[in-house]
Amino acid sequence: MQQPVRVLALFAHPDDAEFLCAGTLALLAARGAVITIATMSAGDCGSVKLSPAKISSIRQGEAAQAARQIGARYACLGGKDLSIFYDRTTLSGVVELVRRRRPQVSFTHSPADYMADHETTSQLCQTACFGAMAPNYRTGRRPAAKPLCEVPYLYYADPLGRKDILGQRIPSAMYVDIGETLKHKKAMLACHRSQRAWLATQQQISDPESLMLKMAEEAGQCAGVRWAEGFRQHLGQGFPQDNLLARLLSAQVHR
Ligand SMILES: [Zn+2]
Repeated sequence: MQQPVRVLALFAHPDDAEFLCAGTLALLAARGAVITIATMSAGDCGSVKLSPAKISSIRQGEAAQAARQIGARYACLGGKDLSIFYDRTTLSGVVELVRRRRPQVSFTHSPADYMADHETTSQLCQTACFGAMAPNYRTGRRPAAKPLCEVPYLYYADPLGRKDILGQRIPSAMYVDIGETLKHKKAMLACHRSQRAWLATQQQISDPESLMLKMAEEAGQCAGVRWAEGFRQHLGQGFPQDNLLARLLSAQVHR
């Protein structure tokens, strides 16, 4: 019997995966993939009223509930908002996560994004996918997971707004038609109840779902479908050069 595909979606904060790639994750889940949604932080800065510990606890619960909507697991790497750094300790934690979950397909933020936490997470994920194969890279965890045998396929989700910090459009290389799973994406995003007030007061986003739908609609227009999510594949030396996601979701992928 064929083994299910293992997928790791590693993003900076709770709700990032829901905004950026939950429709695609739901499609993969429906096809039997074993999915982990992980965040670098628990979102400790996502409140103007609650303490970091309190809001972190709430947001981890919300993220776990969102993951459960599609039968995925949630993991938090324990970092802090605005303090996700590319350093030895953080990288070893990400490599250990990759080795434990052993993904064939991974998703993360765009290398160029609207905030440093996202861009750093993207770099950490890229290095961890590559370095998870190197036996001489020791994470120091006990017990430590075995090195991977193959570098996972890595896909960068389009950033929120699909632009960099200079307002330049970041063109997607491929689109996934998420019409079939938009309802799951909405349900997952709705789990992040604590963020409605934060987004309204701090980022002038009165309705997270409307923002998500606007982005999915714009990507959909580029793809010639109603709703889509956009991605670029990491094609650097050492990474797979064919497109596993396009094979797994062949009917939904547009390029
Ligand atoms: Zn974020």
